[in-house]
Amino acid sequence: MTASSYLAVAFCSLAFALALIFRRHRAAQLLAASTLAVTALSLPSHTGLAAERAFDAAVMFLPWCWLLALLVPEPPLRSRRMLAFTALLAIAVWLTVMAPVHVWDALQRLLPFGAMSWRPWRVALALNSVAVAVAALQWLSARRPLDAASAFALLLGAGGWLQLAGLDLRTWLLAGAAVQAVGVVYSSWRLAFLDALTGLPNRRALDETLARLSGDYALAMVDVDHFKQFNDKHGHDAGDRVLAAVARSLAQTRAAQAFRFGGEEFCLLFRRPELARSACEEARVAIEALRVVLPPKPVAGKSVRSAKSTAKPARRTAVQVTASIGVAQRGTARRAVEEVLKAADQCLYKAKDKGRNQVVAWT
Ligand code: GH3
Ligand code: MG
Ligand code: MG
Repeated sequence: MTASSYLAVAFCSLAFALALIFRRHRAAQLLAASTLAVTALSLPSHTGLAAERAFDAAVMFLPWCWLLALLVPEPPLRSRRMLAFTALLAIAVWLTVMAPVHVWDALQRLLPFGAMSWRPWRVALALNSVAVAVAALQWLSARRPLDAASAFALLLGAGGWLQLAGLDLRTWLLAGAAVQAVGVVYSSWRLAFLDALTGLPNRRALDETLARLSGDYALAMVDVDHFKQFNDKHGHDAGDRVLAAVARSLAQTRAAQAFRFGGEEFCLLFRRPELARSACEEARVAIEALRVVLPPKPVAGKSVRSAKSTAKPARRTAVQVTASIGVAQRGTARRAVEEVLKAADQCLYKAKDKGRNQVVAWT
């Protein structure tokens, strides 16, 4: 094998290992199939595997494996589905290496499942296009960045069957593996640093940002008022909707970076402390002005059918919350981040004590 072949196989294997380590099992399945195809295409003929058979194997098996990985729900690592997929890959490898010529020829005619007049690579291209469409639909329905990366990676794979730009299948598969590796790392970064409910940077992101802070800044602690009561009255799902709406509102705060601190608490970081007080007041007013429309509740004590026939259609309710905010600035007396946070927290408690829905700044 040439150095570039070793590099190609090593690169694909690394992308596959990344997907496994970060528990992106669907991406790992797609990459496992791609890695095997790249390995077959990289083996020189003196190993006994003719280049033609390697290409035919990729044509026959790769798009089916991709489609299967996309259509079956993402499996846990130790599951029957994962075992079945691995067994299928092993059978494909075994057939590629061991099948006598007449079996191989029969298999080639069989795999397009009746689309005999098509050339095999056309079947591969058609299946590949379906796989791209499935991945794109999965991205549209769940908006997970990794699905977008998969769709793009498979689209690059389609370039391989056409040998677009004069590049061979292996090069296109490598480009796809690179896109998926980036997708795996990016989606794991999001998982680590963004809050899933609100989309804001989370506490870990805040800690890292605070650790790197220098110069003057101000921190504001924002806490939704009487939120336990709100949950008790409207339900936890309604609470989640409100938190997401509050987060969207806070993300618009002038001159501030918003974080979810935890629960119903948020943190605003101001690099220009002189703006903090007025921007916090604007943020408080904006939260008070929010109206969050809740989906209609099912009528208690009635079945859906009887509720439908007798009751008036349920009306959507719009709910409202307020928030209290404490804000403190880094000063000569408070230099450490922990001290500034503590001062902002004390101001928040004062705002709660004074009746809530207000901003208290450290004086
Ligand atoms: P206060 O005005 O003093 O802040 O009262 P509070 O009820 O807001 O404060 P408390 O700390 O007693 O209650 C916070 C509530 O926030 C309790 C918890 O159920 C709710 N909460 C925390 N995280 C979430 C979440 O992610 N979703 C929902 N729906 N509720 C949450
Ligand atoms: Mg709280
Ligand atoms: Mg609260």
